[in-house]
Amino acid sequence: HAPKAAQSVPINGSPEQNAYMEDIEKQFIIDKDQLTAIKDHFIVEMEKGLNKDKQTMVMIPSYVEGRLTGQEQGHYLALDLGGTNLRVVLVTLEGHGKFKTVSTKARVSEELKTGPMRDLCDYIADCIDTFLTEQNLSNVDEDLPLGYTFSFPVLQSKINRGILTTWTKGFNCTGAVGKDPVLLLQDALLRKHIPVKITALVNDTVGTLLSNAYQKPDTVAGLILGTGSNGAYIEQMAKIGKWKEGPTTASEMVINMEFGAFDNERVILPVTRFDNKLDRKSINPHFQIFEKLISGMYLGEIVRNVITDMMDRNLLFGQPGQNTEAISGHYQFETSFMSSIESDTSADLSTVRDILDTNLNLTNVDDVELRIVKRICELVGTRASRLAAAAIAGIALHTKVDRKGADIGIDGSLYEFYPSFEDRIYQGIAELMPDYADDIQNIVRLGLARDGSGVGAALTACVADKMLKSK
Ligand code: BGC
Ligand code: MG
Repeated sequence: HAPKAAQSVPINGSPEQNAYMEDIEKQFIIDKDQLTAIKDHFIVEMEKGLNKDKQTMVMIPSYVEGRLTGQEQGHYLALDLGGTNLRVVLVTLEGHGKFKTVSTKARVSEELKTGPMRDLCDYIADCIDTFLTEQNLSNVDEDLPLGYTFSFPVLQSKINRGILTTWTKGFNCTGAVGKDPVLLLQDALLRKHIPVKITALVNDTVGTLLSNAYQKPDTVAGLILGTGSNGAYIEQMAKIGKWKEGPTTASEMVINMEFGAFDNERVILPVTRFDNKLDRKSINPHFQIFEKLISGMYLGEIVRNVITDMMDRNLLFGQPGQNTEAISGHYQFETSFMSSIESDTSADLSTVRDILDTNLNLTNVDDVELRIVKRICELVGTRASRLAAAAIAGIALHTKVDRKGADIGIDGSLYEFYPSFEDRIYQGIAELMPDYADDIQNIVRLGLARDGSGVGAALTACVADKMLKSK
C-alpha cells in the first residue's frame, strides 16, 4: 500500500530511465507499516531520553514550568539566532492572547557562522545596539530584560543558563561548544555597555509552543519544520525519571526533545545512499540524521544528489551543449525550488522548466526530464512530511491525546511555504492513529505559530519573571 500523497505521473522515459525511477521509488517511499515502526521506535526513544542522561534524543527539561494564561503582559526584547536570519524583536504582550512586535533582521554570513564565537557575539551585540537606538531605548534606567532564542541543543540548568552540546544547521563557531551561550553574549553586551540583561534562554520549539499556547490554551506541543527540525511538548514532572533537582512545585515542564537526532544509530530510518552522501559532506557527519531527512536546509541537496547520480549514468541532462555547471555545485538546488516545482500542475510543466532554466541554466530540457525532476521532488518532499508525521503522532500518542484533541503550533519555512507538506503530514498521522483517522484534523490540530521564536522568547522572559517573583 503506497501512500496516497505522492501523485505519480507516469515518467514514460527510456527503459533505463523508467527502471532507475522505479528503483528510487522503492528507496524513498515509506509505507504504512514502516512508518508505524518508525513512530513506535520514536516513542521508545522519547521514554529513554526522559529516564536517562546522554541518550540520542536528549529530551531536555527547559525549566519552563506550567502553562500560560494568555493574560501575560509587558514589553520584552527577544533575540532569535539559529534560523535563516538573526532577528531582534521588541514584543508587547497585551494580554487576551494578543501581542505586537517590531523587529529587524540581519544575515549571518558563512564567515561568522564558522568563525570565533566572540566575533558572532560582538556582531549580535551590535545588532541589538542599533535596534535599541532606532527604538529610542538606549537610555533606560534599568537593564532591559531579553529572552534569547538560541536554536541549538543546549543542556539547560536554569531558565537562563545552559551548555551548548553541539552545533547544527551549518553553524560551527569555535569556542562555544561546552560553554553557556548566555554568558558569552552577556559578556559582549557588557563590553559594549549595552543596557540589556538576558533573563531567559529558549529553544525555538519551546518558544513556538508558548506563543501558540498564548492564543490556544489547549496547546501541547510546538514544532519547527524549517531550516532545521525539532519539537517541544508539555510533560508531567512525574514522567521525567532523570530529574535530579529534588521536588518542585510544578506538575509539568516543557521538554525540548531535540528530535533532529532521532535514530542517529540508524536502527530504523530508511537512509539512502543520497542521504549518506549529504551526511558525509556535512559539518556534523553521523549527527542529526532525522533532521537531515526532513529539513529545509537539506531537502534540495538530497534532490540534487539524485539528479547528479542520474547525470553520471547518462540518464539526465545529456543534450549536447547542456550547461551542467550550476547543478553540479553543492547546495545549488534550493529547497524553495522544490516548493515551486511541486506546485506546478500544468500539463507542460512550464514552472519546472522555468526554474531549471532561470536558476540552474539548464536550457535544453525535454518533457521526460521535467517529469523526472518533479517526481524526485515529490519523493523527497513526501518522505520528509511522512517522517515529520511519525514524530507528531509519537508526541500525540505519548501524551495520550483523546477525542477532545490538542493544538500543536508549528513554525518554519517548510511548513509555511511548501505546498502539500501539511496535507501529507495529516495523511501520515491518520495512518498512524487509526482510532482517530475519521476526524484527524480536529484531534491533532496543527496550526502556524508565526514568529514562535520572537514572541515565545518574550513569553519565556515573562514566565522567568513570574518564577523569580514566586520564589
Ligand atoms: C536544533 C534545535 C532547533 C531546530 C530548529 C536543530 O538543528 O538542534 O535546537 O530547535 O534545529 O531550529
Ligand atoms: Mg525561526
